Amino acid sequence: MIEPHGGKLIDRCLPKTKAESLKKSDLPRLVCNVDTVLDIEKIAIGAYSPLKGFMGKDDLSSVVTKMRLTDGTPWTIPIFLPINEKEAKKYSKGDEIIIQDETGDDIALMKISEIYSFHRKKWAKNVYGTDSTRHPGVKRLFDMHGKLLAGEVWMIDNPALAFEKFNLFPEETRKIIKERGWKTVSGFQTRNAPHRAHEYLQKLALSLTDGVLIHPIIGWKKDGDFRPEIVIKSYQTLIDKYYPKNSTIFAGLATAMRYAGPREAVFHAIIRKNYGCTHFIVGRDHAGVGDFYDKYDAHRIFDKLPDIGVIPLLMRGPYFCRKCNEIVSDKICPHPEKWHKHISGTMVRESLAKNKPLPEYVMRKEVFTALKRAGKNGFI
Ligand SMILES: [Zn+2]
Repeated sequence: MIEPHGGKLIDRCLPKTKAESLKKSDLPRLVCNVDTVLDIEKIAIGAYSPLKGFMGKDDLSSVVTKMRLTDGTPWTIPIFLPINEKEAKKYSKGDEIIIQDETGDDIALMKISEIYSFHRKKWAKNVYGTDSTRHPGVKRLFDMHGKLLAGEVWMIDNPALAFEKFNLFPEETRKIIKERGWKTVSGFQTRNAPHRAHEYLQKLALSLTDGVLIHPIIGWKKDGDFRPEIVIKSYQTLIDKYYPKNSTIFAGLATAMRYAGPREAVFHAIIRKNYGCTHFIVGRDHAGVGDFYDKYDAHRIFDKLPDIGVIPLLMRGPYFCRKCNEIVSDKICPHPEKWHKHISGTMVRESLAKNKPLPEYVMRKEVFTALKRAGKNGFI
């Protein structure tokens, strides 16, 4: 079994008795939005191992500029807790507070180690490769409160998640992997209902490794993305009909999309390593948005982090070739572009919007039918 990132799977879930006594305590409460609450849960269950809390100034600055924590461990995306200036004045270093979600449930105990400000422009340029607010990740960063709160967290209670059944912990996927005797596992990140290019990538990975963890993001996504329930439903349909029994684990990953392209590809790989993956599939324009990244920037970034400890499966974007008469990539198809038929989520969305049929080389008909049934409710 592959070691978690940093060597140890972090577990910051408090025992019930301690959690109950904290719920009765009069420690100050800080209400946080869903993204922060999801980050806390990821820290507590070890999905973000080796992180034990929200980053302090030194770690955040090292991540932004060097793609590493201060101890040298590869890490590419800042994990932070924003707070407004007025609220920040209430706290000081060493304070213990309780973080609540927006419904008023106690989620975690946090010990404040630092309250600091940050340089947004540098952060945006380094992490997102742009400071344009046309980029949804940059826009969120620029709209964010002015101070950051750092410190370790301990989870009091799991946040109420809409798709709890699919929210497996790293400990649970690791247990399944062990039980099935898989020595190698490929992680697959997605935020879309599966089309044939996804299936091609997953099956290519499956022919190289013992199993695949299909792990769609269920969290903050931008308008026009598929809703989580429809992603789940369409994958269930696909796996049931077209995948060998017991070769896949399907679970949701409740975290926000950052749309940070290459840096997010590394972040996604590290998370899946914590869930027990030895390999991670990186396709074309991984975690990209609009035209902010080159198609294969997310492949090249892995050269800079050879010690990440998970093997990236760098896959070229598949397409349907009318000459080959199958789904291929430019690595195996010799034919000129005029024979190529592009496959994308945009085509699926357009077909649904205009109520037009979709060729089967784009999407399995059962999956497309499931999407059609969801209608407009399929989208955010
Ligand atoms: Zn061809």
